Amino acid sequence: MKALKPGTYRVVPGRYYGSPKEVWGFRSAQLRGTPQAIAKEFIKANMKLLALKGVMKTLRRERIIRSLGATHVIYQQYHEKLRVNRAYVTVHIDRNSRVYLIKNRAVPRHMLPELESPALDEEAVKKRALKSLRGARKKATVLDVEKMWFPKADSLILAYRVRLHRVDPVEEWLVHVDAQTGRILRSFENLGRVKGRGLVFDPNPVIALGDHEKLLQDGKPKRRIPKVAYSTVTLEGLKGNGYLDGQRVTTEPTRNRVHRPDNQFMLKSGDRGFEEVMAYFHLDRAIRYIESLGYRGARSLFKEPLAANVNGTRKDASWYSPGLKRLTFGTGGVKDASDAETILHEFGHAIQDVICPGFGQSAQAAAMGEGFGDYFAASFFASYKPEKYRTSVMTWDGITWNEIYDPPCVRRLDEKYTFESFDHGRWAEEHENGLIWSATLWDIRETVGRAVADRIIIEGHFQIDGFTTFARGARAVLDADRNLFGGSHEGQLLEIFAWRGIGPV
Ligand SMILES: [Zn+2]
Repeated sequence: MKALKPGTYRVVPGRYYGSPKEVWGFRSAQLRGTPQAIAKEFIKANMKLLALKGVMKTLRRERIIRSLGATHVIYQQYHEKLRVNRAYVTVHIDRNSRVYLIKNRAVPRHMLPELESPALDEEAVKKRALKSLRGARKKATVLDVEKMWFPKADSLILAYRVRLHRVDPVEEWLVHVDAQTGRILRSFENLGRVKGRGLVFDPNPVIALGDHEKLLQDGKPKRRIPKVAYSTVTLEGLKGNGYLDGQRVTTEPTRNRVHRPDNQFMLKSGDRGFEEVMAYFHLDRAIRYIESLGYRGARSLFKEPLAANVNGTRKDASWYSPGLKRLTFGTGGVKDASDAETILHEFGHAIQDVICPGFGQSAQAAAMGEGFGDYFAASFFASYKPEKYRTSVMTWDGITWNEIYDPPCVRRLDEKYTFESFDHGRWAEEHENGLIWSATLWDIRETVGRAVADRIIIEGHFQIDGFTTFARGARAVLDADRNLFGGSHEGQLLEIFAWRGIGPV
């Protein structure tokens, strides 16, 4: 083939190399052969235009990508057997085998330096890279080191690329270090988390409207939810694959998952995927909250993304499976995952399981499990609620339960029960018995405030087991207060436990 004729193409000039960075705005004649043969032939014919004389032999074909309308042949430049950072040539060929674009970041031959032996060895470079991380540099580990050429303005510098991983916060760094001077050439966080957007209830339409009556029609929950019930939120930590897959949460077990390549999940109740957005957003935020209490890094409770199936059953039931480490939400009645308090109640079971595997194997422990889930949800959303809903949980999920509670809800946290009323019978119901425990925890929150209460209640779980009792649970809260706050709330806590007839022994 012949070289492109001047005036038939356009050029983006390079800044330092004197060679064009891009040649575009043309379409070559139809060429024959495989994409790699076409690419090679085209580069050869236009060697002068591209200033690639003597560079061809430094290029290695790296990849061929086929998109819908074109094929893209990618070469990477090597010099003295070392990769040249970001020095590539790409040739783009349309479906009719015509080249229409070439990009060129290769370093021209006259600029390729002699190979000198580096002043720093790999060990010294690793130390240098680790030291360069700001903040908590503990827990960073070196994944790999590669000796390479690093283009800096119009020269090539012999360098090392060090890949670092750290867990607190989870980050992956690429650090380029000058092999002669130890200078940091470039430092870049590479995990590439994506933020998405979504529409959710926060926590549910009853709280958003401040009036459950407005959401009922002939005693049934309305299908059309007023616009004001929705909040637009940022979905943090997404992998960016278009699914609700993230650093802390995934909806992977869900059937018929919603997929949005642009990570915009602006769905409404009734749309497929709305409950997935709900589960993702609320679980992710709750896990971040737990992290903010101090359970992060080596102390983090959720080391793997927490998985949620938002349409796992048609029944009106939800659960956490300790075996699968997975949350499942039912779609019967008001869909469980459309009420964030139901989501956080189930999340409470997940917290207990990760701290204390096999929690809830005795009647008292099972009741404490239910009570804690209700407490966690109520505590989380207390500041969102009008006074009359403050001690009710799941007011949307339980909107038709108006014969039991006023305002209607699934459960309350302000019952006056004491341990006297614990049902030890064979047919005892853990949610019923749980009301004693959740009310006790709520008393604690009302007395010492959310920040202290959430901390000592969660921390207490580290010293109890799956067969625990209310009394031991109370002692665990007291011990946590001693360990975290020097026991400064002991008097208040003892008073609460005494009033509720609980231990602490
Ligand atoms: Zn439960």
